[in-house]
Amino acid sequence: MTAIRGATTISADTADEIRTETARLLNEIVKQNSLDISQVSCIFFSSTQDITAIYPAKAAREAGFSSCALFSCMEPPISGSLPLCIRVMLQTEQHIDAPRYVYLNEAVRLRTDLSGILNIAIDGPAGSGKSTVARELARRLSILHLDTGATYRAYALGCLRLGADPADEESVKSVSDRIEIDVTYDGVQHTLLNGEDVSDKIRTPEVSMAASTVSKIGFVRERMVALQQAVAKKGSCVLEGRDIGTKVLPDSRFKFFVTASPEERARRRFLQDKSKGGTETMENILADITARDRQDETRAISPLVCAPDAVYVDTSAMSADEVVSYIMRKVQEKI
Ligand code: C5P
Repeated sequence: MTAIRGATTISADTADEIRTETARLLNEIVKQNSLDISQVSCIFFSSTQDITAIYPAKAAREAGFSSCALFSCMEPPISGSLPLCIRVMLQTEQHIDAPRYVYLNEAVRLRTDLSGILNIAIDGPAGSGKSTVARELARRLSILHLDTGATYRAYALGCLRLGADPADEESVKSVSDRIEIDVTYDGVQHTLLNGEDVSDKIRTPEVSMAASTVSKIGFVRERMVALQQAVAKKGSCVLEGRDIGTKVLPDSRFKFFVTASPEERARRRFLQDKSKGGTETMENILADITARDRQDETRAISPLVCAPDAVYVDTSAMSADEVVSYIMRKVQEKI
């Protein structure tokens, strides 16, 4: 059993306004929480005393919520409270880990904590499962997922294509004004190198190692961090990387460091590679992970470390689903 809250306001006390906004509020709650309407057991409404044209419960029944108990009541006239406001509490038999409360129209002011920008930082080493977790977390919260590693990978691909040596700062500098990185979204992230979508071309072992190498360079990091901060500033998102909690979003209230033993991470990468028809051996993958760990943890600028205020999550014995539910719970507790 889960109870989900929400509220909205109407612009005038008319039956049509009440019908439209009540239906919109309920449908939004259903959509955002992936509810099965047949499992909704009851819906309670309370509305301010300036709402008289029709009961919100009647509007709900007309909108198709007819197989559950519906109830409306009027609120006491509290001075200074938001006028023309309809509040709702919907109860469902479904278990929902982290219910999404929905506040529409002027009612968003009631819960600025929910309607403000939510930026979640997920850091961790290669193969820790942070991408899977960050993607699923973003999906459940209906917000963007920014894979910051992809921006370094695209930069590295740009260097390789232009014949620059990622390990040689001067060589990288000589081509850097011919490298433009950006990200766009159409449900998923597309990483662009000079306007070309290179999302599929940046996952090779050669680009992985080159990304780890090029990301040691200060001016490369500055450019990528500025891009990542701009995306985070525009709207809510889950950012995953190595330095999100320490450098990109040092003020985020939601920081997680996701990790697992090198052997477990290699095993996960091996299975992932195999499922895509890859032929990498376990030994090679473990060697690659260990080399990248060393390079990422020991570099002078923004090394991979767990921020002191981050929640440390050892996922060695956890499924991706368990990790997502755990992080959702922690985020919800802080909201
Ligand atoms: O996460 P992913 O394996 O795609 O990242 C590729 C490389 O980019 C990492 O090995 C790391 O060196 C670098 N990186 C970084 N800072 C980030 C994300 C990735 O230095 N925020």
